Amino acid sequence: MNVKKAGWFLILSCFLMLVGCGKQGEKSGPSITEKPTDQELMEVAESTYEGIHILTEVEDEKLYHLALSYPIFDKENLNQEITSFVDERKEEFLEIVADIPNPEFVEQHPYMFNVQFTIEQVSDSIYSFLFTIGTYTGGANAMEQTKTYVVDIDNGKYLQIDDVFDVNTDYLYFLSKEIKSRLYEQEEYHDFLFEDMIDEETAPVKENFEKFILTKDSIQFVYDKYEVGAGALGIAKVTIPLQDAAAYLNEQFQPELINEMEENEKEVEQKEEAEQTPIQPDPNKKQVALTFDDGPHQKYTVQILNTLQKYDARATFFVLGSRVEFYPDVLKRIKEEGHEIGNHSWNHPDLTIFESEQVQNELRSTSDAVASVLGEAPTLFRPPYGSYNELVKELSGVPTILWSVDSLDWKYRHVDTVVQEVLPNVHDGAIILLHDIHETTADAVEVIVRELKEQGYEMVTVSELLQGNGLELQSNEVYYSR
Ligand code: ZN
Repeated sequence: MNVKKAGWFLILSCFLMLVGCGKQGEKSGPSITEKPTDQELMEVAESTYEGIHILTEVEDEKLYHLALSYPIFDKENLNQEITSFVDERKEEFLEIVADIPNPEFVEQHPYMFNVQFTIEQVSDSIYSFLFTIGTYTGGANAMEQTKTYVVDIDNGKYLQIDDVFDVNTDYLYFLSKEIKSRLYEQEEYHDFLFEDMIDEETAPVKENFEKFILTKDSIQFVYDKYEVGAGALGIAKVTIPLQDAAAYLNEQFQPELINEMEENEKEVEQKEEAEQTPIQPDPNKKQVALTFDDGPHQKYTVQILNTLQKYDARATFFVLGSRVEFYPDVLKRIKEEGHEIGNHSWNHPDLTIFESEQVQNELRSTSDAVASVLGEAPTLFRPPYGSYNELVKELSGVPTILWSVDSLDWKYRHVDTVVQEVLPNVHDGAIILLHDIHETTADAVEVIVRELKEQGYEMVTVSELLQGNGLELQSNEVYYSR
């Protein structure tokens, strides 16, 4: 589905480039008179990982909270494998949702589906992805599963275990023995391992070793809950240094070769910080705070920044750490142009179903990611789905910002509908919720900002809006508007 969407988008972009006439034909109501130029439409920020982008999808329904993120490759043929895996799992989850017997009760405790991944660069061309799929379907039905992919981008293929190991060796016996002994070696696993499960999972057959990731100096095997032991074991990991496996590895994966590739990697270039011209908010003007969640996006955040610049407007961006990792340059531009940055968690889970350690991980990792790019951590927090409890509020350590005008742009992917959800409901002191990961939102923002400006509104950051009347923001407070 998402491949289709991405493809549709590409076709649309080309279409716009060729005919340059915009999409007014399919809209009713107020039309966009000032479309971004073709050049602006084509502006796409680079990713930290060349040839790889991150796709984020969020649904905030009454009965469930869903957040997916997964990689999208510039090489189209690589996308099918991961997107169809994610789509299938999503379909399974939605089938469960469709059969909910007690919707009134579930509305109080929405189901959850969350797909996230970590990325590990092995060489210029090879990347490993470890996916975690979290599902909550009521009561004690919380589940976490993993899935791995190792991609060779230059060769346009996914690597299997026999691409990494030399099939002319008895590597299957080596792995069987090695994984078994390393599982038993780990003290924290000791009390929870089940011998018969381990024997089955590590039997020397190829199928047993397909769930692996490569790092620069090791190969890791991942076991879900109940695969090698009791539930209390959680997800178990076995790491074998490539050095120890050298005799069984294909030539390409010999540890010294991988390290050589590493040395060739280009250094991260340091961009000079642009001089920021602070605009003084005018206390006599009507003010609103536009807020954008779930980015930064390589394309739509950039388009929105161009619009804000054009109308001398400022906004607040509540970013996901997982996306900051991919698009640090977009984050830099947000700050350089005088906008504010807030924490929106790493991967958009409903934080209220988490224990404090997981909540802290989500918030701190994002805070650290922002700080490592900008030198300072976000001083505002917006909980995913606006869902918080005392624990979440307290652990965030900064003011919690919700909203008073909801654009519902994640649901209605239609420019005029988004505009109509916002404009009639705007009031002085409003905090407006939008999402900078949708094309329709980026287009709607052009209309919204122009209209608000015409209506005499000043568009300021959340802090400026709330502090405008001398108010000092409290870290344990929740703010909806001024
Ligand atoms: Zn969000």
